[in-house]
Amino acid sequence: MSIKENLFEIKNTFKNPECLLVAVSKTKSIEAIKEAYETGIRDFGENKVQELVEKHEHLPSDIRWHMIGHLQRNKVKYIAPFVYLIHGVDSYKLLKEIDKQASKVDRIIHCLLQIHIAQEESKFGFDENELNEMFNSMEIQSLKNIKIIGLMGMATFTEDTQKIRSEFRGLKNLFETLKAKNLPSNFDLKEISMGMSGDYLLAQEEGSTMVRIGSAIFGSR
Ligand SMILES: *Cc1c(COP(=O)(O)O)cnc(C)c1O
Repeated sequence: MSIKENLFEIKNTFKNPECLLVAVSKTKSIEAIKEAYETGIRDFGENKVQELVEKHEHLPSDIRWHMIGHLQRNKVKYIAPFVYLIHGVDSYKLLKEIDKQASKVDRIIHCLLQIHIAQEESKFGFDENELNEMFNSMEIQSLKNIKIIGLMGMATFTEDTQKIRSEFRGLKNLFETLKAKNLPSNFDLKEISMGMSGDYLLAQEEGSTMVRIGSAIFGSR
């Protein structure tokens, strides 16, 4: 099936039509992205800074570029001028660097805190203790050029749908718990980025507001 057909099918299965589809175009060509763009998709996700910068230069300027992968601090400066949303913020140090680079280009960069919800050791992200530490330090209030608009998580890579569901549910619960707190003014929690090609329907059932879908649209990598 073509990219257009895949997108049509995926949109048709959505449990929540309001949920934002971020088309994950990593490793895929400019032509493939254009095909998705022509169907009206404007949100694209990449996980490598260099690829993100190159694609941004060659594609229409109304595309909203999402940085979805692990972001190294020394590379923030390359995407700060244009990135729309950074999904994988997994340390306070990274947040500080994003704030610094955003201030240089006079922007307020929207970020999601990546939460470690999977069982696997390899996945990046904050756990609840680290989050609380960050909030308690109050230092985060001084970062004026970032806005934390939600949370992001990746479930364990498994066939066990109950497990995936319970991890997504845990992220949603954490989101609600945080929202109920008196958070600094650079917080405006409204998004939960969870769900990929294999588990986006489960994620939507558990309250996802953004799904990051790659292979189901563009084919395997
Ligand atoms: C690659 C990637 C995706 C998309 O994965 P698919 O299984 O191809 O849909 C989503 N999120 C992140 C962080 C990724 O790196």
